[in-house]
Amino acid sequence: MRIGDQMALQVYEYSIGLDTKDPSANLNFVSHAHSDHTSAIRKNSVTLCSQITKELVEVRSRYSINMAPKPRGVSLLSSGHMLGSKQLYVESQVHGCSIVYTGDYQMQKSFACEPIEIKKADVLMMDSTYPYANIVFDDRQEVVTSIQRYIKYKGMQGCVVFGAYSMGKAQELIGICNDAGIDPVVDAKVARMTEVYNRNGFSLKFQEAENMEGHFDSSVMIVTMGKLDEARMLAAHENKRVFTAVATGFAKMQKFSTDVQFALSDHADLRQAMEYVEQAGPKIIYTYGSNSGTMAMNLRAHGYKAIPFNVKSEMAGYQLSTLKD
Ligand SMILES: [Zn+2]
Repeated sequence: MRIGDQMALQVYEYSIGLDTKDPSANLNFVSHAHSDHTSAIRKNSVTLCSQITKELVEVRSRYSINMAPKPRGVSLLSSGHMLGSKQLYVESQVHGCSIVYTGDYQMQKSFACEPIEIKKADVLMMDSTYPYANIVFDDRQEVVTSIQRYIKYKGMQGCVVFGAYSMGKAQELIGICNDAGIDPVVDAKVARMTEVYNRNGFSLKFQEAENMEGHFDSSVMIVTMGKLDEARMLAAHENKRVFTAVATGFAKMQKFSTDVQFALSDHADLRQAMEYVEQAGPKIIYTYGSNSGTMAMNLRAHGYKAIPFNVKSEMAGYQLSTLKD
């Protein structure tokens, strides 16, 4: 087993691509169903993912996934990011070490996802979405409570319209609304994906609307991200009041052109990343993603041995067998 330089792991006879289109890979691991992670699914190739990820991708994209059997030594652990999201965990008796690739992960329990599972690993390949020390997510339950207060209060004055990813965040928002005694109106795409959740053990309650017209008397509407301008226009045309909203971790970093923004993230912040590291106890951490350099630097500042995965010169020739001591 070795780490390749194209986000692939060599495991016995398999070269496993990690959420990327690696031409050398003969097996593609897809950690979850968000579209920025599914480009590795290729025609005539085999994919390693959870059954639920397969179902979500097939419902959204209307093509079928050719599932691969799990190679020996490989297991999938929940990553806590969205329904069906998995980390890739590899144990090699040959090399006497273990490695985990997190994919997108979240340490706090969400309304619409299994909690994360963390196992001890010698090597940790870690997502770096939020590497900054000054980005600290609030306690999730506090964020949920402020969302519920807002929708109850503003929902009496007009319609609160959330723009959300149709998978993951939309279902969490439906769960938050249901918990506050509200069944939100959702668009057809959100409804289609929520039905997959309900086929897999959830009981999310919603009303489906083919389009938004005529539904602004409801207290909450959840639509696919990008439809908020349309919602404003339609509501103005119907002379109805709307309050636009987003719920995303990026609310800690930027101002959205909405009436309100909630910092509800499906990713870990730096503090949570260090919690993960403490539990997994790796001998080395490879950070990956566009913020991998900052994440590695900040982890090193806290005493962890971390290297950005995209620095090929540092990776060249690195053998996991060196980790034995
Ligand atoms: Zn994701």
